[in-house]
Amino acid sequence: MCGIVGYIGGQEAYPILINGLKRLEYRGYDSAGVALTGKNFQIQKCKGKVADLEKLGVSHPMKGHAGMGHTRWATHGEPNEVNAHPQTSYQGNIVLVHNGIIENYASIKKHLQTRGVRFTGETDTEVLVNLIEHLYLEGDFSAELAILSALNKVEGAYGVVVACKNEPDRLFAARKGSPLVVGVGKGEYFLASDVTPLVVYTQNVIYLNDDDFAVISRDNFILKSIKSNHLQPEIKELEMSIGEIDREGFAHFMLKEIFEQPRAILDTFRGRLLPDYSGIQLGGLHQVLPLLYGVKRIIIVACGTSWHAGLVGEYFFEELARVPVEVEYGSEFRYRNPIIYRDDLVLAISQSGETADTLAAVKLARQKGATVIGICNVVGSSISRETDAGVYTHAGVEIGVASTKAFTAQVTVLIMMALLTGRNNGQLSQERYSELIRELVAIPDKLKKVLEQDGEILELARIYQDVQNVIYLGRGVFFPVALEGALKLKEISYIHAEDTLLPR
Ligand code: GLU
Repeated sequence: MCGIVGYIGGQEAYPILINGLKRLEYRGYDSAGVALTGKNFQIQKCKGKVADLEKLGVSHPMKGHAGMGHTRWATHGEPNEVNAHPQTSYQGNIVLVHNGIIENYASIKKHLQTRGVRFTGETDTEVLVNLIEHLYLEGDFSAELAILSALNKVEGAYGVVVACKNEPDRLFAARKGSPLVVGVGKGEYFLASDVTPLVVYTQNVIYLNDDDFAVISRDNFILKSIKSNHLQPEIKELEMSIGEIDREGFAHFMLKEIFEQPRAILDTFRGRLLPDYSGIQLGGLHQVLPLLYGVKRIIIVACGTSWHAGLVGEYFFEELARVPVEVEYGSEFRYRNPIIYRDDLVLAISQSGETADTLAAVKLARQKGATVIGICNVVGSSISRETDAGVYTHAGVEIGVASTKAFTAQVTVLIMMALLTGRNNGQLSQERYSELIRELVAIPDKLKKVLEQDGEILELARIYQDVQNVIYLGRGVFFPVALEGALKLKEISYIHAEDTLLPR
């Protein structure tokens, strides 16, 4: 998960691009770069941090009103300055930034080499930029046609922003499997891989769908499919404040988000519980409720932390609604020709709503005729759009790469769904149902009490900070919680951690 930003408009592009890249740093990366586009390309890139990139800009300032920036997480070729994006084509006509992987890069590269194209780096991205230029020069295509035809030849995943020297007043953008959002300003457009860089400038956004292709100039936005049909862009309004993407005094985002959990849980059930705690209403499931109440089997698909939330959900559904549940890892599910029946309900859980393997699992399940429900945090994300119905967690923006509040918010949605199902399929009495809803309502305050002990928790962390191995134990619903705890410790401290079932 790395980042793309882009800008075209009346303002100086450079600071907008650099600030955008800083907002995307949380996604992780190994090198960074920026290009100002126009009749000439100005490019700066380096291995390392956006702060290192910024130093280059101080010694050699760049000016211009359009451009693109990138934080790279290397998949093909080592992280170094040459392989960093933006990548320029062999003859210098095209520049682009790319998130994702071009799977058939090797055969295209071979073909281009036989046609005299030289390569300077090892990335799959350089193959794409050279393919575009090759089609542009050899085919005598317009830039638009060359990009479209190149995108139709490549296999794999991409979010790209492209510029051509001879068409200096335009940026081109496309996505397939790697998210890209357009921010709509007045006489200006912004691009980014998620909304965090955009919210400072505009609340109006267009989420690109897979296979979308956009031609963007200062005062015009044209949306097409890469198959070249015109599409009508749908402008959505963000409900996000700048405060949500600031650390607000916390040492880092993960800590802030841990402390946001009482609010995240409250926001997730708020407005979904009837005033006297007599029932639960999940508006996004309205159409699928009859199916949910009569469901014979639920398949939960997810990855990483969301998969752990799914395992917690399995206990809830089995215990409270007596519905058998299978929890599948998205990547395994999609590659295994799974057995799915038409009357199965598939629950796809993903914080970002963009997890590629989970999204692929959603598509597969729908192809096989199952009804798919999404549990996502990011409104308008791919999974939320690709599913038949869904429930948003209202955890707020999660910037920390190690998920915290999104996990507890997912668990909150799962308990609400399990309670609702159990009550309506006859497994739960009204009395027990209301009692459990009251317990749910009490959780944010209990969580606050836990968080108030942060001083003592810090003391404990100090005592154990030098240990080499940690084992997390748990039974029942706490078994997946132990899995999640071990994952958090590994992700954050690189201390070896294992999880295990509690011995008898
Ligand atoms: N596959 C490309 C590369 O290795 C892009 C990686 C990314 O998504 O940052 O350069």
